[in-house]
Amino acid sequence: MAVPKRRTSKARKRKRRTHFKALVPNLDKCPHCGAPRIAHRVCKECGHYGTEAVMESGD
Ligand SMILES: [Zn+2]
Repeated sequence: MAVPKRRTSKARKRKRRTHFKALVPNLDKCPHCGAPRIAHRVCKECGHYGTEAVMESGD
């Protein structure tokens, strides 16, 4: 197994982690029921994607 020759410095570690961020999803309104929904995802409220029902409605 490869073993690092040098310890990663605090600065190098922090610089690497600058690319490592929390994702903030784009919220959009469902065209079918108007509920907030993550863009390009099936609506959790009514199970529609665009104008098409792709899932059974929840309750
Ligand atoms: Zn919906």
